[in-house]
Amino acid sequence: MKILVLNAGSSSLKYQLFNMESSEVLAKGNCERIGAGGTITHKRPDSEPFYEELDLTNHGVALERVLSLLCSEEYGVISSISEIDAVGHRVAHGGEQLKESSIVTESVVKYLETIVPINPLHGPPAISGIKACLKLMPNVTQVAVFDTSFYSEIEDFRYVYPIPYEFYENDKIRRYGFHGTSHRYVSAQLAKCLDKPIEQIKIVTCHLGNGSSITAVDGGKAIDTSMGFSPQEGIAMGTRSGSIDPTIVPYLMKVKGYSAQEVEDILNKKSGLLGVSGISNDCRNIQEEAAKGNKRAELAMKILVNGIKKHIGSYVAEMNGLDAVVFTAGIGENDWCIREKVCENMEYLGIKIDKDKNKNFERGIPVDISAEGAKVATWVIPTNEEYMIAIDTQRLATK
Ligand code: ADP
Repeated sequence: MKILVLNAGSSSLKYQLFNMESSEVLAKGNCERIGAGGTITHKRPDSEPFYEELDLTNHGVALERVLSLLCSEEYGVISSISEIDAVGHRVAHGGEQLKESSIVTESVVKYLETIVPINPLHGPPAISGIKACLKLMPNVTQVAVFDTSFYSEIEDFRYVYPIPYEFYENDKIRRYGFHGTSHRYVSAQLAKCLDKPIEQIKIVTCHLGNGSSITAVDGGKAIDTSMGFSPQEGIAMGTRSGSIDPTIVPYLMKVKGYSAQEVEDILNKKSGLLGVSGISNDCRNIQEEAAKGNKRAELAMKILVNGIKKHIGSYVAEMNGLDAVVFTAGIGENDWCIREKVCENMEYLGIKIDKDKNKNFERGIPVDISAEGAKVATWVIPTNEEYMIAIDTQRLATK
């Protein structure tokens, strides 16, 4: 079975074509600058990447080019679109109603349109990706996989914000949680690695990338998570502030005269590691500067590490225990220094890593970095949201 996984961003369309029998990626790529020019990078495992600049006016045009590349004699891996058995779409937000991965129907698309006001950045591109697919591949089963659905069983006292209840009832302002597909994937992988039923383990999963979130997974179910109404809440990220005192917003508006849009831009694009360090949103650059003695770079790293530690601690309290911590995504998988600092002075909770194992290991596979005898297992597990989406798509398409 061949499954095409699509991840549409505001100006991008990432894709991977999976052969599910062998779990192989046959081809993958990324269309960028959609709506403002356009580029495509298309890769097959055995050959040099193909790069092209062209006019990609919208996601439909981008998808058309992707399909023609996948079928092309020179760069393709299939002979016709009919070889694609199903398409899986990454959809960040499923609102309150779409609680699990779903076959795309007219009513699913309609519901996604109704929740655009609470998902203004990611909703419209995901919907255009789905619509483009429905048009170009009308007979192929399409499945939407939501980042939020892993959190659909979180209890109300963890998702209702302590503001007037009518904002939840009428406006659906609540914690939704994001990166769920990644947290779901790595927690399932961990259970396999530990060779234990997931129902018996308490895990804190740390997805640390440009956007970062931390989730408490108890018995295979997410019970709490750091991101909330939007992917803005939680720990400091590349350019996002994470949680801050809400009165900072009216202060910036009333006293400093910023507009709502300007405040949103400050908190979303100019804060986090970039805002504090004044250097970059990229952890690598900040570490380099911190190593040279740059105080603000050092401060940015300390804020990041402290945020992660605080979340691990609070989730241990919420779960009444901890069996494992998992690090994943760009920083979580690659940055030994952040992992070392997060796990420092955590012996009280049973977390202790082997510093050598943490620094030197084979990339691309799950690795146990726990110190011998540590009560809590600490693992680095590469995330694979696309594969998780392909698995859900296969399950629903063959039902
Ligand atoms: P996104 O949220 O955009 O998917 P990623 O998961 O790719 O982000 O993570 C991006 C972050 O990962 C950046 O801060 C980058 O510095 C960090 N990162 C990526 N590779 C490395 C590496 N080899 N060493 C340290 N940090 C890395």
